[in-house]
Amino acid sequence: MPKFVYDFTEGNRDQKDLLGGKGANLAEMTNLGLPVPPGFTITTEACQAYLASGSAPAELSEQVTEKLAWLEGQFGKQLGQADDPLLVSVRSGAKFSMPGMMETVLNIGLNDSSVAGLAKQSSNDRFAWDSYRRLLQMFGKTVLHIDGEHFEDAIDAAKKAKGTTADLDLDAEDLRGLVDTFKAIILRETGKEFPQDPRAQLDAAVEAVFNSWNAPRAILYRRQERIPADLGTAVNVQSMVFGNLGMDSGTGVCFTRDPGSGAQGLYGDYLSNAQGEDVVAGIRNTLPLQDLEKLDKPSFDRLLEIMTQLENHYRDLCDIEFTIERGKLWMLQTRVGKRTAGAAFRIATQLVDQGLIDLDEALQRVTGDQLTQLMFPKFDTSGKPQQITKGMNASPGAAVGKVVFSSDDAVAWAERGEAVILVRRETNPDDLSGMIAAAGILTSRGGKTSHAAVVARGMGKTCVCGAEELDVDTRAKTIQAPGGITIREGDVVSIDGSSGAVYLGEVPVQPSPVVQYFEGQLAAEDGDDLVKAVHRLITHADATRTLKVRTNADTPEDSARARRMGAEGIGLCRTEHMFLGDRAQHVEKLILANSDAERKAALDALEPLQKQDFLEIFEAMDGLPVTVRLIDPPLHEFLPNLTDLAVKVAVAEAKGEDPGHDRELLAAVNRLHEANPMLGLRGVRLGVVIPGLFGMQVRAIAEAAAERKKAGGDPLPEIMIPLVGAVQELELMREESENILTSVAAETGVDLSFIPIGTMIELPRAAVTAGQIAEAADFFSFGTNDLTQTTWGFSRDDVEAAFFTQYLEKGIFGVSPFESLDREGVGRLVSIASTEGRGTKPDLKLGVCGEHGGDPESIHFFHGVGLNYVSCSPFRVPVARLEAGRAAG
Ligand code: PEP
Ligand code: MG
Repeated sequence: MPKFVYDFTEGNRDQKDLLGGKGANLAEMTNLGLPVPPGFTITTEACQAYLASGSAPAELSEQVTEKLAWLEGQFGKQLGQADDPLLVSVRSGAKFSMPGMMETVLNIGLNDSSVAGLAKQSSNDRFAWDSYRRLLQMFGKTVLHIDGEHFEDAIDAAKKAKGTTADLDLDAEDLRGLVDTFKAIILRETGKEFPQDPRAQLDAAVEAVFNSWNAPRAILYRRQERIPADLGTAVNVQSMVFGNLGMDSGTGVCFTRDPGSGAQGLYGDYLSNAQGEDVVAGIRNTLPLQDLEKLDKPSFDRLLEIMTQLENHYRDLCDIEFTIERGKLWMLQTRVGKRTAGAAFRIATQLVDQGLIDLDEALQRVTGDQLTQLMFPKFDTSGKPQQITKGMNASPGAAVGKVVFSSDDAVAWAERGEAVILVRRETNPDDLSGMIAAAGILTSRGGKTSHAAVVARGMGKTCVCGAEELDVDTRAKTIQAPGGITIREGDVVSIDGSSGAVYLGEVPVQPSPVVQYFEGQLAAEDGDDLVKAVHRLITHADATRTLKVRTNADTPEDSARARRMGAEGIGLCRTEHMFLGDRAQHVEKLILANSDAERKAALDALEPLQKQDFLEIFEAMDGLPVTVRLIDPPLHEFLPNLTDLAVKVAVAEAKGEDPGHDRELLAAVNRLHEANPMLGLRGVRLGVVIPGLFGMQVRAIAEAAAERKKAGGDPLPEIMIPLVGAVQELELMREESENILTSVAAETGVDLSFIPIGTMIELPRAAVTAGQIAEAADFFSFGTNDLTQTTWGFSRDDVEAAFFTQYLEKGIFGVSPFESLDREGVGRLVSIASTEGRGTKPDLKLGVCGEHGGDPESIHFFHGVGLNYVSCSPFRVPVARLEAGRAAG
């Protein structure tokens, strides 16, 4: 017979799968000998069985009966016993805490007769009736799904009748009246009486917890977070202790150290004569934990002892809920506590210094996402700026600018050189150009998956969304903020995308000391304890990781910056910018060329310019590999816009003027125009179709390398061919490139045979024929941006604005596949290509240079697949170093 019920002495903290997080920790505390009110946990397996069959398994009822009898034996009284009732709480407790799940019902066991017993035992009528009214209210709301407003309205009416606004002014008689009202509400709303049978109450509450596993919000959350739907939740049934029995009772929460800063000390809140929900509801002001020392020194001292014991036992910051009942301390819950990013780093290294954990474990206690948070600039709020509201922290950063209310205004103002904050009720795809132009985005509606939030995160732009207290009127161009403040177009606001705060006026922005450290402007020993902690952990990550970290950079400045940040080479040097600006004229000539001679002349003009670019980049990255990708985008990107040009020609012709060169250009632009340019003439196809184009770039690379060598440098270029789908494409380009390397070597007298030639894997066909492609490749670099685009058939430039909001809201994915690698689909192709590529060439070097190379989750995947390196933007290099270390640890 399956064991569905465990009392707290039977479990431990490692049993979160079976007992849920809360139950496992209650068992752990019980077995540590801490004062935990006795109780039992109904397992997740019972929940699974219930959800599968629609009713509680027969064994469950028997086992609950048995454990309940055991519990009753502990106290010498029965659940709901009329003259002296045992009361219990019922709480959900899944492995992961989940929004939308049913939380708690207290005081189960009270009914019309046991309320009198409780009153007699506690010598406190008010307490007893208040407890009964709380049961009815919680049971009504969470078990019977009655709208909570019905109960709250009734409380308000009772207070009004009494001429008060404070709950505490309601006396036993008033509360008895409320009990009647609440029972009437339950009957009216459900057609049934509130169950008087204590066991029926208990069973209904347990089933309600089971059912809440499939509440819509819980389902959505699981789908987004990829939590398996079949885990189920556990249910904790625990004997009640009361913090609301008088002034010698109370309840509180505390942390073993400051979750904000990580500092050791006393952190917590206490409320006398109250139950836990009162603390959460903020009905009365809590006292700082220190004050408990004066109120009840023995309990205070015992609590401090327990805090130390728990921290040493869990070897981490714990958060704790406790209750004092008539001078006796009880522990109701503990768990490893949440903390800020800075606290995470500080605490991890403090615990190492205390000898509680080693550096390997410390590295697992921090994340790349936390490090990212520490790398954003922050507002310096020491001047106490005026915070007007707080919205959702949708995309981190600190942005200051003048308020504008339309996308067009954002673009126009930004063109004048003004920093602007685009303020909308919510954004839509039409706002895209304004979002790009703005320094930050502020909306009054929508959550973290709203259009504004999704698109801003995709662009790395600061965004606060859902600031509901702001009344945004885009026609009148005003915002009404709390406190009667009116903000008009052109007024300056400051928005903090990391906290959601919105300030009036300009708040000074402070650079991140962590970035200063990574940039080499601040030595670790001169930094504060946060910088020191980051230094220790990143150093350990570097010593641990097997993945190398390179950067995506295409200028000497970015290369140098990334190198300071710890990049071990360039994994992707895009060359498209080498065709822009003044150089576009040569591209035009190349496209318009009517003869080999004209084409050659255009390429000859471009070659020395590109060579100079490479010289500077190779110098900045001296001694480190630089993967240069030959030109990838469709050529029309370097030509004038088709519509603009057509209008220009038409206007000239209408005026009877000769459009001259423009007519020829228009014909070329028309010829190159494609309906789906991302699937068109780009990447290796350009190399195949336009003679000499790739060759020119290879020559520029080769000559730059030879020149650096002669100057005593150590250039390590790697030539990379983009968008290959078939080995034949690569063979052609390889042959052309090798010939050029050979001739440049002969011309310069420098051996260039060390320069490898490889390819990007960015098409599904390339991935599934990687075994063949590897025959012609010295290395692969996964272009997971294009690979995601082509695997899903999503246009990477359009989808975030077009429909990702709905996809996220409906839980089709929890995060954009362009942000974090889709392991099952795109990841599978990466894994197939890695295995088959290495099947052909066991030493084939493998890297990734799509955006995923800087994404923490994806880095763990790439480590697992056995890539040699990840390559990411300079700013993400430290994050990648840290995560690569964690992945290897
Ligand atoms: C990619 O496709 O992942 C890649 C790095 O190339 P790009 O983003 O330049 O297309
Ligand atoms: Mg690409």
